[in-house]
Amino acid sequence: MSRVYNFSAGPAVLPEEVLKEVADEMMDYRGTGMSVMEMSHRSAAFQEIIDEAEKDLRDLMNIPDNYKVLFLQGGASQQFAMIPMNLMKNKVADYIVTGQWAKKAYQEAQKYGKVNKIASSEDKTFSYIPDCSDLPVSPEADYVYICENNTIYGTKFKELPNTKGKTLVADVSSCFLSEPVDVSKYGIIYGGVQKNIGPAGMVIVIIREDLITEDVLPGTPTMLTYKTHADAGSLYNTPNAFCIYVCGKVFKWLKAMGGLEEMKKRNEEKAKILYDFLDESKLFKGTVVPKDRSLMNVPFVTGDKELDAKFVKEASAAGLVNLKGHRTVGGMRASIYNAMPKAGVEALVAFMKKFEEENA
Ligand SMILES: *Cc1c(COP(=O)(O)O)cnc(C)c1O
Repeated sequence: MSRVYNFSAGPAVLPEEVLKEVADEMMDYRGTGMSVMEMSHRSAAFQEIIDEAEKDLRDLMNIPDNYKVLFLQGGASQQFAMIPMNLMKNKVADYIVTGQWAKKAYQEAQKYGKVNKIASSEDKTFSYIPDCSDLPVSPEADYVYICENNTIYGTKFKELPNTKGKTLVADVSSCFLSEPVDVSKYGIIYGGVQKNIGPAGMVIVIIREDLITEDVLPGTPTMLTYKTHADAGSLYNTPNAFCIYVCGKVFKWLKAMGGLEEMKKRNEEKAKILYDFLDESKLFKGTVVPKDRSLMNVPFVTGDKELDAKFVKEASAAGLVNLKGHRTVGGMRASIYNAMPKAGVEALVAFMKKFEEENA
């Protein structure tokens, strides 16, 4: 067996302990004589898996009782439509556009009502988070939308926007469970799990109960109505059972590690190793305004496209894979999610130092 250090933005690295447990249970999940993939989603064994997953997530994030946890399909992108379909009572929403994912959500919402871009950082290739302390929030807005961690550009909101009393909706796909959050500040927190939690194919939606209603936009499909899934405990139809099972194991792994306070400490430590090197390097430089730097996604460049390509190729040969930047940005990006060990970041920095010396 030979594992690499996988810096992919998503699907991404999973904890080895979790992968081993899944492998051990593959032929016979706890005496059922079958794997979780082969199991009815209506079985007692699966009900226990989904119940425990929800309970552990609630413990980890301290989710208040007036919030529902939904395990849905369609990925994060499906929420770009589902959110306006369910929340746009006045058909007005305000979006803060800090990257490609926020922009896609903003564009999709335009199909359903009047959508205002109340702030953007597109003028400087999304390399910073705009000041959101006093934005022109629309009096009629049904919600204010952000993408809290910008996977492609490597920025993160260190402070939530002042929504002036409006419901905050946040896409946390790439920072989910990376540090503690105060769930009560949000109406909806959601994220695709394939970045920082589990396998691809599922989105977790944490939604305040008063936002779950039958009063949705006309024509909203049953499957895209939050109430359908909330009423059925995420078992209205067959869910992504295997994904829920693996995510549940990752929740237990996080709890055993000490929870989100401890994860934050570890993530800060890991990110510092890389950012400190980028700040002193003569060859590599980070592309983000330092105060807005993400702990999860770290983009960097040499300034020379050919050298960037050479770096990605040689790093890959050295077992440091998926370091190529997003196709819209170029350069490099190291995604250092919860499951990336500190040793992986140290190996990357050691390789960068060597590359810098060889290419001075
Ligand atoms: C990856 C990503 C998405 C898209 O996720 P899908 O599950 O592929 O739809 C949306 N938002 C953010 C912040 C992401 O990182």
